[in-house]
Amino acid sequence: MKLTDLTLVAPYLDLDPIFYHEVHPTPLHKPYLVSFNLQATELLGIDLSAIDNEELIKLLNGTMLIKGSRPYAMCYAGHQFGHYVQRLGDGRAINLGSVNGWNLQLKGSGETRYSRQGDGRAVLRSSIREYLMSEAMYGLGIPTSRALAIIGSDEKVAREAWERGAIVLRLSPSWIRFGSFEYFFHTNRHKELETLADFLLRESFPHLLGVEEPYLKMYGEIVKRTAELTAQWQSVGFNHGVMNTDNMSAIGITIDYGPFAFMDTFESNYICNHSDTQGRYSYDNQPRIGYWNLERLAHALSPLITTVKLQLELEKYGNYFTTRLMELLGTKLGLDTLHENDNDLLRALFTIMENGQIDMTPFFRHLSRYNGNRETLLPLTLAPNQLNEWLDRYDIRLVSNTSSVETRHKNMLRTNPKYVLKNYILQEAIENAQNGDFVLVNDLLHIAQNPYDEHSPFERYSLPTPAQYKNLKLSCSS
Ligand code: AMP
Ligand code: MG
Repeated sequence: MKLTDLTLVAPYLDLDPIFYHEVHPTPLHKPYLVSFNLQATELLGIDLSAIDNEELIKLLNGTMLIKGSRPYAMCYAGHQFGHYVQRLGDGRAINLGSVNGWNLQLKGSGETRYSRQGDGRAVLRSSIREYLMSEAMYGLGIPTSRALAIIGSDEKVAREAWERGAIVLRLSPSWIRFGSFEYFFHTNRHKELETLADFLLRESFPHLLGVEEPYLKMYGEIVKRTAELTAQWQSVGFNHGVMNTDNMSAIGITIDYGPFAFMDTFESNYICNHSDTQGRYSYDNQPRIGYWNLERLAHALSPLITTVKLQLELEKYGNYFTTRLMELLGTKLGLDTLHENDNDLLRALFTIMENGQIDMTPFFRHLSRYNGNRETLLPLTLAPNQLNEWLDRYDIRLVSNTSSVETRHKNMLRTNPKYVLKNYILQEAIENAQNGDFVLVNDLLHIAQNPYDEHSPFERYSLPTPAQYKNLKLSCSS
């Protein structure tokens, strides 16, 4: 099927107009294709042989609407850095409709009713980051929105400096956020709140239609998904950076990539977002914030579900989170089953990683081939004695592991990525792209989608981050 043969549907537009603003994208001048993602075109059912770059550019630029497409921006509110803000919404995102269960959304395609003081635009820098990062998360098996393609333009967009404008076409099974519910709760529109809950059930929780207490069960699933998502972030050293409730997906996937980072050297209170002066969204705080956000969602849903029942679901969060995290970390160490003392072993490792300023991605990768020889591991730490002691404990623990050394290595190499897209790597691709060279963007896309494989020309990206680029903070402006 060709792109132009697709037919989109937009069930969201069957809701009352209070939920959205129908608005057409504002095209960028002289757009050019930066990259497109073959894997995502398949999701939409487009034949690879039928991809036409000019059509893709027109689709992203909003100058070609495919059948059934009725562009609209969605309304939502949210708690930003702990403070409730009633009027947010898609200020620079425009939805085109959905196909195969994927909602297509342009980001950076001009003003909408919800733009407030914003220009409705996104810059090339942040668009490349979102495009590559959503695919990197997918490659790591972490629930996320996806990205189909990215266009750039010479049109200037004002941020801290003038930057180039760009548009990414993002895909998600749902774009409903915690903040979508907060909007209707805080305006006392309980009928609309119920309509939105019914919509989300139909869209993303159809297995709960017709069961008893479907809203409660849906909330319970959102709690579980959010807890498990946060555990996955922690396990790979991912810091989202802006866990405001408007950036929390109601289906528990990673959305709205801003000043995120994969940590370089392990630092428990790492803060990637340079405007987050209090460290509200630091790496260590992410699990707590996940809970806090779910509490806001419970509050917003309280007209539909008794508070006591909501609270009981919410209280399962800690257990969901810890169980999943322990499972993931146990796998990272190559342990077949978890023993009671493994918690201590893992805790000790994270302390040692922090004390020794260990870059966690190469560390776990080297550990995946560990056979008693410590030659590749010890140079990764500034505190080799501590690591030596820990490896002695690990050696003892491995004795009671049931799988063979080969199986352990094989499993660990499938669990501990060789590559994560650290910020300095993304920055190189961005600088090339700003000079019109998109080769690295495309290479990184391939690496992002296959992070456990060897990519020998890019060996250097698997090494510890060079000192001058370690754990830098990023600006929110995008
Ligand atoms: P974010 O921090 O990117 O999740 O954005 C928070 C809110 O600000 C959302 O409602 C966005 O749609 C809106 N926003 C961010 N940047 C812009 C922009 N350049 N123009 C219009 N709205 C924006
Ligand atoms: Mg957002």
